[in-house]
Amino acid sequence: MRHIPDQAEAQKQFFRDGKTLALSFRLDRLRDLRNLVSDNTDLLCRAVFHDFGKPEFEAYSTEIATVLHEIDYHLKHLKSWAKPKKVKGSLLTFPSGNRIYHQPYGSVLIIGAWNYPIRLVLHPLVGAISAGNTVFLKPSELAPETSKTVAGLIKKYFAPDYVTAVEGGAETARILLQLPPDYIFFTGSAKTGKLIMREAAEHLTPFTLELGGKSPAIVHQDADMETSARRIWWGKCMNSGQTCVAPDFVAVHKNAEPEFIRHSKAVLKSFCGNSATGAFPEVKIINDSHFQRLSALLSTADLILGGETNAEKRYIAPALVRADWNQRIMKEEVFGPILPMVVYDSLPELAGRLRDMPSPLALYLFTGSSDVRRDVIRNIPFGGGCINDTISHLGNPNLPFGGVGASGTGKYHGKYSFDTFSNEKSVLDKPVWVDPDFRYPPYTPAKLNLIKTFFS
Ligand code: NAD
Repeated sequence: MRHIPDQAEAQKQFFRDGKTLALSFRLDRLRDLRNLVSDNTDLLCRAVFHDFGKPEFEAYSTEIATVLHEIDYHLKHLKSWAKPKKVKGSLLTFPSGNRIYHQPYGSVLIIGAWNYPIRLVLHPLVGAISAGNTVFLKPSELAPETSKTVAGLIKKYFAPDYVTAVEGGAETARILLQLPPDYIFFTGSAKTGKLIMREAAEHLTPFTLELGGKSPAIVHQDADMETSARRIWWGKCMNSGQTCVAPDFVAVHKNAEPEFIRHSKAVLKSFCGNSATGAFPEVKIINDSHFQRLSALLSTADLILGGETNAEKRYIAPALVRADWNQRIMKEEVFGPILPMVVYDSLPELAGRLRDMPSPLALYLFTGSSDVRRDVIRNIPFGGGCINDTISHLGNPNLPFGGVGASGTGKYHGKYSFDTFSNEKSVLDKPVWVDPDFRYPPYTPAKLNLIKTFFS
């Protein structure tokens, strides 16, 4: 590969030459990306297994299938999205034609996190290609085998002047940020997100930040307890809790607590068997430092269920712990298979506490009541979520995905990805067959009276 600045210059030239603009080019490149994923599914799944033991079922369903689904959705709709959109004129601009054109930004940078190391770079790549950009991808260095595999495949399937994958950590990311790119799409922690935002401010670069946070699951007293427990633990156990939209903690109504614990016990037994690191997906904690962090959280926790650990294998069995709102485990993102449980007396009290916390990426509400749904959706800020389920909202490309406030800025998936990687250019087209002198100086009292009559 060329040096990064030379490669960036080549990408800029490729873009300036207009090579990414034709719809046929973009559709062909989406098909290339589809081939990259479908021809190399086994290779990609093996790479994530190598990095942290993600079982093939999870790797396929959460990383491969989701990217293929996104590509197919874009292949189906891109032609209509890319058409200039005619919009109505207004009284102030009559007569005129008014259209919105979608213009690619140019050379965009996509930085991914390690926990879904295929999806978090290839899913946004779909939108970047659809919108007509050239792309630098930086996969996470914490999943090195996947980073190497993705970078190798990008090189094989795409011209480097169009899409380039650059491997490395923070230092490499900083070099890429200083190019500077024309758009930054970042997935990762809030801490790094702040650094990205500072870098973007330096060059006034537009950006998306996909961050994390403490996403609550709320189990109200009228919920179907068995289904709630199964669906919450499904979301928590996926990828061993190392999922940005995993239920971080559960808030259970005081009347529902015994039932929730009873069903959690049954669910974990059915998922894991009796052993600490039983048959259930043995996704490892990504590295020793995260293993130590999670073990420290467990060591001071009031354990209700599970929580056995195996340091050598970096396994932690799913754990339910009783928590207090003021404990450390309720202050930081858990990002592991430990589910702190807090108990609430009333929804207004719970809503007050949740509003005092940084806005989460997701919220999951388990209830049978439409009034409770309405109140929670209306009164608590969160990026997106589900009623009576966890995580599934990510599976629908018609729903924009992203956070709010501390959990992120900007949305993607489906058309929202196309929009994210495009500048919506507004153009007013004025006919020349008529040109009343009403708006031109001199501004006579008669003109002023006329405009006031229109708008009063
Ligand atoms: P991270 O912020 O440590 O790293 C993310 C990426 O940023 C990596 O590619 C890394 O190399 C790069 N990076 C690290 N330091 C940098 C710096 N100083 N300057 C520029 N780039 C830098 O995050 P992580 O540990 O990989 O991911 C975990 C976090 O990501 C969690 O908070 C999780 O909730 C969040 N996350 C969010 C989403 C989402 O879609 N919203 C998805 C996955 C993970």
